[in-house]
Amino acid sequence: TSFGFREVGTGEKQPLVNDVFHKVAKRYDIMNDVMSAGLHRVWKDAMIAALNPPGREDYRVLDVAGGTGDIAFRIVERSGRKAHATVLDINGSMLSVGAERARKKGIEANLDFVEANAEDLPFAANSFDAYTIAFGIRNVPRIEVALKEAYRVLKRGGRLLVLEFSEVEMPLLDRFYDAWSFNAIPKFGKLITGDDAPYQYLVESIRKFPNQRDFAAMIRDAGFARVSFTNYTGGIAALHSGWKI
Ligand code: SAM
Repeated sequence: TSFGFREVGTGEKQPLVNDVFHKVAKRYDIMNDVMSAGLHRVWKDAMIAALNPPGREDYRVLDVAGGTGDIAFRIVERSGRKAHATVLDINGSMLSVGAERARKKGIEANLDFVEANAEDLPFAANSFDAYTIAFGIRNVPRIEVALKEAYRVLKRGGRLLVLEFSEVEMPLLDRFYDAWSFNAIPKFGKLITGDDAPYQYLVESIRKFPNQRDFAAMIRDAGFARVSFTNYTGGIAALHSGWKI
């Protein structure tokens, strides 16, 4: 590949991903701001606005690959601190940072943190009103398995929302974006964390992820109905939506 990374098969990918996020956990939040020039906040806010969680105490969301809690915290706040969110991540280092942030915000009663794999969710079928995953699904080795699990744990009428980097569909912006991601991101990564390999992995994983239409088809294949997507910032990111009916 262009970065000299070996193609990694299903069995090899997860340990690599885990290593990346163990390394970056403590600096993850600041790196997000640097790498996306703050845009990830705008995209995340738009995702939560699309979900529009009701102010109900029995409203339960599962935030997969939830990392340091950005999505779950926003859901809890937007519901008027009523909704409950389960932050699930395969990486204990990311979850520890998240749990500490939740305590500081005083919202830990609305949250729980679960260390598990998106491909094998430790929950009964029909448990959640919504399943969210932000910038996480491209790291999962078997995306179609994760989507089937999402479908299984959602209640009927439940909603899937996936926020992910996508295919830039604006001329000029795509060139700027290429320059930014191939050059600037690994350099900033090295500057802040002392290591550029994790950020090369991240950029590479974005390139390999299916575009808007192909990913929408995968969501449909997992059983979801009324599948749609919305581009953010010319397609740098896209929000995919589907329903379990
Ligand atoms: N959702 C958070 C956000 O938007 O800030 C964190 C996103 S971070 C880029 C990706 C997360 O996916 C990491 O915390 C990583 O540990 C997690 N992850 C990777 N593979 C996973 C898997 N198979 N199951 C669950 N989480 C996984």
